[in-house]
Amino acid sequence: ETEVADYMKSMAIRVSGFDVPRPIKSFADCGFPVQLMNAIAKQGYEKPTTIQCQALPIVLSGRDIIGIAKTGSGKTAAFVLPMIFHIMDQPELEKDEGPIGVVCAPTRELAHQIYLEAKKFAKPYNLRVAAVYGGVSKFDQFKELKAGCEIVIATPGRLIDLLKMKALKMFRATYLVLDEADRMFDLGFEPQIRSIVGQIRPDRQTLLFSATMPYKVERLAREILTDPIRVTVGQVGS
Ligand code: ADP
Ligand code: MG
Repeated sequence: ETEVADYMKSMAIRVSGFDVPRPIKSFADCGFPVQLMNAIAKQGYEKPTTIQCQALPIVLSGRDIIGIAKTGSGKTAAFVLPMIFHIMDQPELEKDEGPIGVVCAPTRELAHQIYLEAKKFAKPYNLRVAAVYGGVSKFDQFKELKAGCEIVIATPGRLIDLLKMKALKMFRATYLVLDEADRMFDLGFEPQIRSIVGQIRPDRQTLLFSATMPYKVERLAREILTDPIRVTVGQVGS
């Protein structure tokens, strides 16, 4: 165990929560199927980044997570890779009943970046990824959602609009990601986030990522996550 402790110290990883899985050192330690390993290699990702080393085993074990690490640390793959794994693990995947993975991000630029990353890893499995954000035709997005998807990447406001229009059903959603939670709060999306969370079954797995952890975000995390493990990488202010 001292070996693990030394390793985590060298990586500047701090964790809190119970029964924390030990960090991995390579993608091969994740138990990913060969198609996903190939997609990772194709991306040029040789080894997991620090946040990925600790977040991947936690998320893959089904636990809720609060991941705090600065921009550029590789948080997207830390939630996208286990999301693909989670979806492929679902029974009766062919039944088209709305997204299984739901990702909320503060801006359309960010949602689009996550969409591109998710597409790359979803491709070998032919999973459908829908991007839903403002500034583009709501009608086109309505049609895309109606056609079915396994993953939706959304800004909160547009997702609420489309839920009101009954473009999608949330009862199959079991994997919820709130990315850049601090920025979503700064942009005033707290009510929309709460509404979305309230429409997703409580036995979901919930992941919250943020560069900083102000009190308001902390309070929401405490309400909507179940026994989360908190992972902090590096020096983070609040
Ligand atoms: P964050 O969300 O923490 O700001 P991103 O997920 O956007 O960070 O990743 C930042 C950059 O690092 C992206 O260009 C991404 O493709 C790249 N990246 C992510 N994981 C790895 C990895 N394991 N190896 C190499 N590059 C990676
Ligand atoms: Mg990010």
